[in-house]
Amino acid sequence: MKQLRASGGMWVSVAGTHLYIDPGPGALVRCLSSRPRLDPSQLEGILLTHKHLDHSNDVNVMIEAMTEGGFRKRGVLFAPKDALEGDSVVLNYVRSFVDRIEILEENRTYEIGDIRFSTGRKHHHPVETYGLNFETKPCTFSLVPDTRFFPELVDLYRGDLLVIHVARLKPIGDERIDHLSVEDVKTLLKKIRPRLTVLTHFGMTMIKAKPWLVAEELEKELGIKVLAASDGLKIELEEV
Ligand SMILES: [Zn+2]
Repeated sequence: MKQLRASGGMWVSVAGTHLYIDPGPGALVRCLSSRPRLDPSQLEGILLTHKHLDHSNDVNVMIEAMTEGGFRKRGVLFAPKDALEGDSVVLNYVRSFVDRIEILEENRTYEIGDIRFSTGRKHHHPVETYGLNFETKPCTFSLVPDTRFFPELVDLYRGDLLVIHVARLKPIGDERIDHLSVEDVKTLLKKIRPRLTVLTHFGMTMIKAKPWLVAEELEKELGIKVLAASDGLKIELEEV
């Protein structure tokens, strides 16, 4: 909410297929101001891991940008059912701009152009949320969005590259929290040991602790490569 870190989400490109994940506040502006510029009309799809605003705020404007104001019907929207029903974050009039809407569900595989990905089981979060495993080449990658820690998490995500949302430096006692802390991430990384881990989605306790120092410490302790995301960070799958 203070925009100390950009909240626009991430752009995935695989062999000419472009997919945008979690267009939070600023997604469109960040795309257009990034260098090189990212052109949303090149997107094949937009995916929401869940409906919370920090992941979905710009979904409508990004759909408009992907479809050139709705004049060029194209693309796919992926979202969990509860992002589209009731208190939906996707406006009705915008839905007719995309070719199709695919509902994200537990343990399913999806395809868009050259990108193939599957969902894991439902995360522990106040709204319906799924993590993703991408079967990309030359390396696979997994995205672990918001969730409270649960033991099965260690078996869900096996990507060579692991992008993980770590909002909190420390867990808050017994209080029910719905985000991962650094302690939780450590537990996961000890078991998964990805080739490269990228920490992102920092809350204030992480920002204050300087995420790059947190990453450095994890790297030293676990003996694996850990990177703290910075705004505009670009990762080449060939180099993971
Ligand atoms: Zn959330």
